[in-house]
Amino acid sequence: MADLAALYARFQQSSAVSTDTRQPQDGTLFFALNGPNFRGRDFAPQALAKGARYAVVDDAALVATDPARYTYAPDPLAALQQLALHHRRQLIVPVLAITGSNGKTTTKELVQAVLSQRLRVQYTRGNLNNHIGVPLTLLSIRPGEHQLAIIEMGANHQGEIALLCQLAEPTHGLITNIGKAHLEGFGGVEGIAKGKGELFQFLAQVGGTAFVNTLDARLPGLAAPVAERVTYPGPTDTYPAQLLSAAPEVILELFDGQVVDARITGGYNFPNLAAAAAVGAHFGVPAAAIAQALAAYEPDNNRSQQLRTGRNELVLDAYNANPSSMAAALSSFAARPGNPAAKVVILGDMFELGDDSAAEHRSLGQLVQGLPFGTVILIGPELAQAAALDSSMLHFPSKAEAAVWLRENPLTARQILVKGSRGMGLETLVELL
Ligand code: ATP
Ligand code: MG
Repeated sequence: MADLAALYARFQQSSAVSTDTRQPQDGTLFFALNGPNFRGRDFAPQALAKGARYAVVDDAALVATDPARYTYAPDPLAALQQLALHHRRQLIVPVLAITGSNGKTTTKELVQAVLSQRLRVQYTRGNLNNHIGVPLTLLSIRPGEHQLAIIEMGANHQGEIALLCQLAEPTHGLITNIGKAHLEGFGGVEGIAKGKGELFQFLAQVGGTAFVNTLDARLPGLAAPVAERVTYPGPTDTYPAQLLSAAPEVILELFDGQVVDARITGGYNFPNLAAAAAVGAHFGVPAAAIAQALAAYEPDNNRSQQLRTGRNELVLDAYNANPSSMAAALSSFAARPGNPAAKVVILGDMFELGDDSAAEHRSLGQLVQGLPFGTVILIGPELAQAAALDSSMLHFPSKAEAAVWLRENPLTARQILVKGSRGMGLETLVELL
């Protein structure tokens, strides 16, 4: 390992940390991370030429060419993580970790919107929630400037959240829910509960605080070992909230009677909104400011977005899909006001389901079959079986074939839900809707 103190000194003299030479490098500390198909060290000279101040590389010969700017580390990723932990330990701010199967990014954005009413908050940008993104976010927390940090933590196998907790040492934690996401890597829902529960286990060990969604049957049990618990949104919880309407927008009543007419759609966003209210209240944001922040939040990232095209009204939820989020999106779309015959669902394959894939796609077919939609369009090889259940459902093996059909059969005056796994990229169909 590189001399951590020396590396930290270089970090403090740098403007920020960078890992990608396509991003601006002015004054950064560049970590030459290796990828499956490239060696980071090959990019390091370019990073320095583009303005990076220092570079961390796993190549002693390269370091010898300019020791004033290169730092040697046998494993630059490990160096990045150790530096992040070292930096985190200098900070005295609360660190809130957010994990869960679905709704992490949405909840993180909502919590950030609420807490920013009162505090200077640093938070995970986009979806940088893994073993690289978490250290990068930690290293972007500036002492004396930020008063709280929100770290999104993602995982697709056991032990991953525990590792991220060891890097971020959260003082507070929130698990959005336990659902069927990344079933393949976790080995079933019980495995998912255990994997996500690593956050609460960490908090129990360090005397941290858990935010507990009591609507999720598994979470109160997982949180039991944590002494400090803040619960939501049940009537007897610390911060109750009530769902007044799920569609077209979520309307909810907060603990002190404030009514929030959110711009975000889908009943499944109710616990996400209630979570943000609970976190805000816990950190002293006044109820009126919480309500204002939640009402103003507008999703713009293909997650639970409502769009009006020239011809149709869309619910664009094409960012991702798994069995739980499909079920949530479908039931909430079915509950939207409007003529069911004019409702169209366009669904794409769900990825990362492993051995459960066939059964889960079949169940999805059964679920859709039982809901009142005028038109069902299923896209992707895994959904072929689902389509076979009911001849009124259209099936296309690929997005390109679906696009041809949509061009020939333009949809008008419909409400349309679009949802599929990230790899399906169904948002590109929007131009045809
Ligand atoms: P990722 O694992 O990609 O980081 P994430 O957990 O950050 O996902 P979001 O990006 O916030 O989740 O939301 C992805 C999709 O999950 C949403 O578009 C929506 O369909 C669904 N979703 C969001 N919140 C919930 C929830 N509370 N319950 C079920 N599904 C949800
Ligand atoms: Mg996310």
